[in-house]
Amino acid sequence: MSRRSRRLVRSYLALVQRDGLSAALIGPEVGGHGAAERIRGILESTDEYYADPLSGLSTLQDVLDQRVAEVEAAARSMGLRFDARHVLTALYPLGDVNAWGAPANSGDLILVSRGALGLTFLTLKINMMSAQMFGEPALIDRAQTVGALADVFAAHFRHGDPWRAPRLPSLTGHRAVMLDLLVNAAARFMIGHEYAHVAGRHPHVDRTTLKSADSAVEVYTRLWDDEFDADRVGAHLVLADQRLAAAAEQDPHFVRRHGLASVAAATGPMYVLLLDLVLHELDGELKVTGYPPAATAHPHPGKRWDALWPVIEQEYANQASPPPPLELPGGLMRWFENLFTDLVPAVRDRLA
Ligand SMILES: [Zn+2]
Repeated sequence: MSRRSRRLVRSYLALVQRDGLSAALIGPEVGGHGAAERIRGILESTDEYYADPLSGLSTLQDVLDQRVAEVEAAARSMGLRFDARHVLTALYPLGDVNAWGAPANSGDLILVSRGALGLTFLTLKINMMSAQMFGEPALIDRAQTVGALADVFAAHFRHGDPWRAPRLPSLTGHRAVMLDLLVNAAARFMIGHEYAHVAGRHPHVDRTTLKSADSAVEVYTRLWDDEFDADRVGAHLVLADQRLAAAAEQDPHFVRRHGLASVAAATGPMYVLLLDLVLHELDGELKVTGYPPAATAHPHPGKRWDALWPVIEQEYANQASPPPPLELPGGLMRWFENLFTDLVPAVRDRLA
């Protein structure tokens, strides 16, 4: 991560400490000193900008920093204008799939939902396990698939932390590669959507409070037209990143994965919207207390899907190279539709 505004980093640290989340979000205590305090100490002795504000302190934040660097490179390649020193993207328990902009000193503080990263990873992993892929049979049957998904959604609804679901086995081979590509594309979209707001100078319309199991955090709401615009630009950022990665890649093994990476770039953004839709539908059936955290602050995820998918299809149609097969997003939607009637009672049992 490049240099960031010191005041912006402080705004984030203040939020983390207010909710007592230092250990969960920044890193463990070392020698009696919390990582947040150590960063704070370093910040005291630096100038206006500070390099690598949060890196090396939390594994998940490190992963997020990599995605942020990719989104920023893609944004520059598209000619989007922003001052990276005044944008900080950091983890927070939001209880929502979407990333949000939050009030902060000296720039744009983007909070990425910690639970959303877990939901994306775990549900896609279950999908990979449940599907025949690359000529290999499915690893789990329908009942196991429903059970595993129900564990993940119930942990999200109850604790805001899908990682509390029973641990899933590791994937290998092409399944592991595809999971990585999809999860990274989805994360880039969550971040890219917020960068679109920043670069587009979309006005803040109002503020709302997002509640999760761990916190209640104030965030900005925006015009719905700007939300649709941010989806479109966010997806373009994911596709631009894919083009940059493909052009820079020397690894012959990667060349064979270009098709997969291309499919993942089309699918990741749609999967974020699909997860939001599934959570809305589950909540509609189960009436989960405290969910959704801010129902009216974004357009309905189904409408966002309908608006975004033609944009992605068109983008691929415009490319010189033949488009990859693009049935995965629709396939994932049908996968959830097919499981839904069994998934609802399974989640209900776990929440009882
Ligand atoms: Zn937005």
